[in-house]
Amino acid sequence: MTISEILSQRQKTGFSFEVLPPLRGSHIEKLYRNIDQLREFDPLYINITSHRSELVFQDAADGTYRRVKVHNRPGSVAVAAAIQNKYGIPAVPHLICSGFTRSETEYALIELSFLGINNLLILRGDKAKHDARYTPEPGGYAHAIELEEQVRRFNEGYFMDDVRMELAKTPFCYGVAGYPEKHFEAPNPEEDLRNLKLKVDAGASYIVTQMFFDNAKYYDFVARCRAAGITIPIVPGIKPIVLCSQLTVLPNVFHVDMPDPLVKELKKCKTDAEAKEVGVEWCAQQAKDLIAHGVPSIHFYSFLATDSVRRVAQAVY
Ligand code: FAD
Repeated sequence: MTISEILSQRQKTGFSFEVLPPLRGSHIEKLYRNIDQLREFDPLYINITSHRSELVFQDAADGTYRRVKVHNRPGSVAVAAAIQNKYGIPAVPHLICSGFTRSETEYALIELSFLGINNLLILRGDKAKHDARYTPEPGGYAHAIELEEQVRRFNEGYFMDDVRMELAKTPFCYGVAGYPEKHFEAPNPEEDLRNLKLKVDAGASYIVTQMFFDNAKYYDFVARCRAAGITIPIVPGIKPIVLCSQLTVLPNVFHVDMPDPLVKELKKCKTDAEAKEVGVEWCAQQAKDLIAHGVPSIHFYSFLATDSVRRVAQAVY
């Protein structure tokens, strides 16, 4: 089933979460253990993030450094297939522009078709750590909408070079990202919304939001989307805080604000264990309120927070 069908057929607010592929050299069993902890809440689907390679400096034997490209979290396609086959839960791999060429994307689409995966989240992806700003690969894309175009052509049965494909094809259904507090590069919320509308008009079936800690920002975003003619489901993404350091790290990395009452509670915490309790309580309140507002589903950012997400889900589902 496509995520679009799943969201439209659900009877109540659904539950989904994202996982990261294991770090290079780590085993997939730990990832399975995390999923096992959340399985009882009947996830509608599980997202698998995607990560670009990074340039790092390594010591050479002669005392110099050499610059090498390292892919720290490879394997999103394989992890998605492993999850979908093991659990029978639809897997939604993220497809990103960052660090990938069009041909590499085409190979990924072919592999996903063979693996029976027909749901995607299409994103531009984060910039490389060594770059000051996002830079496309030679032969890559500047924006998610260009990647949507490649997937649209693939869905219509054409490879990049316009050769007609003989594959038995199941069209990909995909979502895109939306930012209740504006994407950090957009000059203003209106322009960000116009760009989001372009992505929706290009064929996205649903939107997943960046994390937010103040539900009012999500409700306002949904109202602005609806006023702009965006009618597809807008799935809220939320994250339980688990570390004291996230008080400053999350706003810095994700360009989101934290409401003052949350900030005050977190500042009182002397240990991560205390911060985790505050995070569970706050996230559960957010989830309860979102469910009361009848949101289609809640998407949980569960990185480092599987246990907290389990506790929130226990409290609200
Ligand atoms: P875009 O839609 O390309 O937007 C980026 C900026 O360009 C915005 O400011 C937008 O207003 C502007 N813009 C958009 N279209 C146009 C256009 N046609 N012309 C001019 N300007 C335009 N990152 C990863 O690396 N891996 C992941 O797995 C991952 N998963 C994510 C999941 C979710 C739910 C979210 C919300 C984010 C995720 N990210 C991930 C982070 C994401 O890649 C970054 O936020 C990235 O900076 C923007 O991605 P995007 O798809 O929104 O880009």
